[in-house]
Amino acid sequence: MSVRVRFAPSPTGYLHIGGARTALYNYLFAKANGGQFIVRVEDTDQERSSKEFEVEQLADLKWMGIDYDIGPGKEDEHGPYRQSERLDIYKREALKLVEEGKAFYDFCSEEELEQMRERSQAEGTPAYTGKWREPKHWDEAKKRVEAGEKAPIRFLVPDKDYTFTDKVRGEVTFPKGMVGDFVILRSNEMPVYNFCNVVDDHMHRITHVIRGEDHVNNTLRQLMIYEALGAQAPVFAHVSLLIGADRQKLSKRHGATSVTLYREQSYLPEALANYLCLLGWSHPEEKDIFTLEELYSVFNLDRFSKSHAIYDMEKLKWMNGQHLKNKDDAELVKDLEGNVSHGHFFHKQNEQWKLKCVGLYKEKIDLYSEFESQLDQYVLNENVEYSDEAKEALGWETTPQIRTYLLERLSDVNQGFVSEEDLAEWMNYCKKELKIKGKPLFMGFRVLLTGQNHGPDLKVLISLTPVSILKKRLEKAGN
Ligand code: GLU
Repeated sequence: MSVRVRFAPSPTGYLHIGGARTALYNYLFAKANGGQFIVRVEDTDQERSSKEFEVEQLADLKWMGIDYDIGPGKEDEHGPYRQSERLDIYKREALKLVEEGKAFYDFCSEEELEQMRERSQAEGTPAYTGKWREPKHWDEAKKRVEAGEKAPIRFLVPDKDYTFTDKVRGEVTFPKGMVGDFVILRSNEMPVYNFCNVVDDHMHRITHVIRGEDHVNNTLRQLMIYEALGAQAPVFAHVSLLIGADRQKLSKRHGATSVTLYREQSYLPEALANYLCLLGWSHPEEKDIFTLEELYSVFNLDRFSKSHAIYDMEKLKWMNGQHLKNKDDAELVKDLEGNVSHGHFFHKQNEQWKLKCVGLYKEKIDLYSEFESQLDQYVLNENVEYSDEAKEALGWETTPQIRTYLLERLSDVNQGFVSEEDLAEWMNYCKKELKIKGKPLFMGFRVLLTGQNHGPDLKVLISLTPVSILKKRLEKAGN
């Protein structure tokens, strides 16, 4: 049977990074096995679900490079893939279970249910002990339903242990008595998560369920439903949860937790995908920088870790920097055009200047959003602040000589840029004619023209800096 996996988001908020990681694992598993990756929208919580969130979540998945083969808008013969379009199916399946004696209508009142809960907690009796679980009352129940009364349908929980083998956690056994008869269809005919999830996984021909560890306990109810439907349960892989550095469940306190926020902060989708993939899974060759395509041939379910994965924003940022440096300069220019503020000096320069500038600064930044401040601070800063070392260099007796010479060379140039060749020629002149060599020469030039005592390749930096700014710096150095 060919692999069919699914990501089943509930559109009740933005795509969480934990959800994005689950989606990624499913997507990669499908790719690695020549299978199909399905998206199923679990929107039965009518109050909290919204179309906007569905659209946002699907757009975020796409942005990360996770395109689904089958799902909303890409249906196959096993669809539909939005739960709100499948309500009649859940009702039909629930009624079938009632017919087969595997579920029953429950006419207990709220008070009765409350009493059962209290007794169950105090005395350890089963969570549901209502009379309606007994077959002798089922005819009466059916008659009341036929007469128009509304009642929820409860699943009749078998009195036995359930065991399954999880691809990550190994053998998991749920001893009998852990759950009482649970509702599968509410009296308003809305299905409950565990029920519709299983009906769908079965009908959607899902072979493997890869999801967060927080769903392990749901698996018990789900195994019961598979059994009742006469369906084979899929292979389960419950991956570890994401936690913060303080070992607490990941929340907004730890920083951005939705994919949208990373997108807005100019993170590269391939870097976020790379990072999320490594939270709880490891590459067979221990590689840490890769593209999703590179994983197609190596991804498998054997390399998950059982322990919680610590979400580290600094590591993600570093990884973003690695992906950024791997891009070619023309691509970076294109990306930066969309990231640098509207009307900024950068946009008014020619392609050659942009390429050079990007080539110089890509080593210094991890995020696109850091580029503009590098430019402002090092290329466009008119009013430099000197460090102690820079002040010392300005105090050397040779520095004013270089300054006088440079001011003279630039006296009749008021706009544009100097070339790398010009700078080389000027240094040469100072060396030959003014006899200034070594550190006094290089540091003198650097401090006078950039205001800094260290920085990137001076020739390149100077050729990117407008002459007008170089002149302002030279003037300031004399005050
Ligand atoms: N809609 C569920 C969730 O978002 C899906 C869980 C599952 O994958 O079974 O948690």
